[in-house]
Amino acid sequence: MSCDGACLDNRSPFCDNPPLTVIRLTRIAHVLNSETLSPAPRKARSTGQILGTGSTRDGIYERILNAVMEHRLIPGTKLVEEKLAGVFQVNRTRIREVLARLAHEGIVTTIPNRGAFIASPSVEEARHIFQARRILEPALIRSLVAKADSQQFRRLHAHVAEERAARETGDKRAVIRLSGEFHLLIAQMVDSPPLVKLMRELSSLTCLIILLYDSPNVPACPNHEHTEIVEAMEQGEVEAAIGLMLGHLDHIEATLDLSLEDEAEVDLHAIFG
Ligand SMILES: [Zn+2]
Repeated sequence: MSCDGACLDNRSPFCDNPPLTVIRLTRIAHVLNSETLSPAPRKARSTGQILGTGSTRDGIYERILNAVMEHRLIPGTKLVEEKLAGVFQVNRTRIREVLARLAHEGIVTTIPNRGAFIASPSVEEARHIFQARRILEPALIRSLVAKADSQQFRRLHAHVAEERAARETGDKRAVIRLSGEFHLLIAQMVDSPPLVKLMRELSSLTCLIILLYDSPNVPACPNHEHTEIVEAMEQGEVEAAIGLMLGHLDHIEATLDLSLEDEAEVDLHAIFG
């Protein structure tokens, strides 16, 4: 499942704009410090490495994105420029650049006079994101099957094996990140920077959606769906692979509780009456 690891039990409370959940600033340093929050050594590559974009310049961006992908930064978390500048030991202008990039990608929401927050996609936005993935990902599969070589399939199999190993050791953060990166890897192999960018945005937003709307009672996601997609692609069965991918995305969306009415008005009388 993609950060799509919709099966995980680390559900956050529902957050809506303006963000309700504001992690204390001191936590940001911990969240972004993998040594503090990820005691298990992380052998896996970072999202930036997966995408070949892990340059020094993108380091801060990649670390924040990784924290989102691993559910260490949750929707509604306030990102304070000054604190982030301290955490990463750079000036605020540099942080502002990163936040602007993340805001442009929809990962961060900027609220005038309040600052920047990890986005809290609405139910409507969540449905649009899945709709976009259902359009994009079959096209990626079609393109990849037409050009993939044996080395690329070996890499896909290795990635799925890494996911399986993370599940077996109970490393939920790695499972979440790796499952999201599976979809990014397909986009990367298609070798189209605009599509990689699009897939990365959709995958990151899916992570946030899962945090917001994951049903706490759903059973663990089946572990075999990525494997089946890779095998169908490897056998050149394009339509079967596309069908499996669409089924996979349907499954992820179905495990989420998107029944909440977006415009549902909070009943203040009921709350305070
Ligand atoms: Zn997936």
